[in-house]
Amino acid sequence: AGAKPDISREKSSVLFEKAKKYFPGGVNSPVRAFKSVYGTPLFIEKGDGCFLWDVDGNQFIDFCCSWGPLILGHNHSKIKEAVTIALEKGLSFGAPTALENELAELILKHNKYIERLRFVSSGTEAVMSAIRLARGYTKRDKIIKFEGCYHGHSDALLVKAGSGLVTFGETSSLGVPKAFANETIVVGLNDKEALSKAFEDFKGEIAAVIIEGVPANNGLLLQSKEYIQFLREITQTHGSLLIFDEVITGFRLGFEGAAAYYGIQPDILTYGKIIGGGMPVGAYGASAELMSYISPDGGVYQAGTLSGNPVAMAAGIAQLTELSKAGFYKDLNKKTEEFVTAIQRYVSAKNYKVTLFHVASIFWIAFTDQEQIQTACAIDPKSIEKYKILHRELLNRGVYLGPSGYEVGFVSAAHTKIELEKAKRAIFESLDVVFS
Ligand code: PMP
Repeated sequence: AGAKPDISREKSSVLFEKAKKYFPGGVNSPVRAFKSVYGTPLFIEKGDGCFLWDVDGNQFIDFCCSWGPLILGHNHSKIKEAVTIALEKGLSFGAPTALENELAELILKHNKYIERLRFVSSGTEAVMSAIRLARGYTKRDKIIKFEGCYHGHSDALLVKAGSGLVTFGETSSLGVPKAFANETIVVGLNDKEALSKAFEDFKGEIAAVIIEGVPANNGLLLQSKEYIQFLREITQTHGSLLIFDEVITGFRLGFEGAAAYYGIQPDILTYGKIIGGGMPVGAYGASAELMSYISPDGGVYQAGTLSGNPVAMAAGIAQLTELSKAGFYKDLNKKTEEFVTAIQRYVSAKNYKVTLFHVASIFWIAFTDQEQIQTACAIDPKSIEKYKILHRELLNRGVYLGPSGYEVGFVSAAHTKIELEKAKRAIFESLDVVFS
């Protein structure tokens, strides 16, 4: 087959040149700028089902799905209908509505890991608030995060590991005060020794340990249940809280997310993405006792003009109603499993140095022959270079993946067997080009 000619990006290029005059890097979120792959970013015209169309009329089978929220695919009729009904009554009131109760009820009825929750407007906000709650509850300041986990862009979490097993974090962004970074300890994933040492070094100071339900922002770093159990135990021993950041995994691994996947009860859970059906919604939840620390009941302040926005709630209700139906996850996960297994079989037969990692409907194409990658440092940065070719070849064959080799892909309920079959063939051909 060989490399395919590039798709037209004429209109996207014009729009991108304009956008650069308005926004830093021409975008409103950095990864969208296509810095890690070839060509100008595609400006999107519309989406429907598992398809995306850009402004140049190119059509793609979409595995980015807005970075996870669109588990039912684009433009789902039930969500569209619910949103339309809500918006006819007004866009925002800054006062309680029945829709908030309805979404909360739907979640709490099907999720035994939280008793109360609070809606916010993004994953970043959810996590930032969860950290404040943990600090307010424990009366401690330090938190532990893991290298390779992303939790949004709040100050406490834009921190990377320093050198050495256990160190104060180093800021990973200009503008984050060193003093803030000193309150965040960063350790490697799957390293019990480092975590134990952190708890010894900072005895009585750790408010919480935060981990992504399944780390999925730096490749897909699948952890063992036994390790997560260890996190549960060591936090309990030291009077610290365990936070599962389920912004990706919530309502993705199953309705109850990673907590149910492991069968482990964390102290605080954060949600985003799927919970809003494509609208800006996040949430954090915990036991009634913990949540009583939140204002106005308690002394931990947290608020939002657009929190619980009625249109966003309507989208969330419509989406989660579909997800709560029997068999939803079984079908989606089975479809993904077949898709991933077929690709793995192909690359193995061809002896390509590629491993597919997956859980539920999340997958990651890694240019490695390692059977396990559980830590950020196990990823060879050079291997990610190959992803650039894969990404370009796939766009040229009508398949849209996230524009970085560290990003995972998502399968939605709207991906039918026919499209998955087409996507598979495109992936085979593109990998042939990568390894030619
Ligand atoms: N936590 C996790 C695990 C995430 O994946 C993300 C976003 N990718 C966030 C937090 C931040 O969410 P948002 O981009 O909605 O602020």
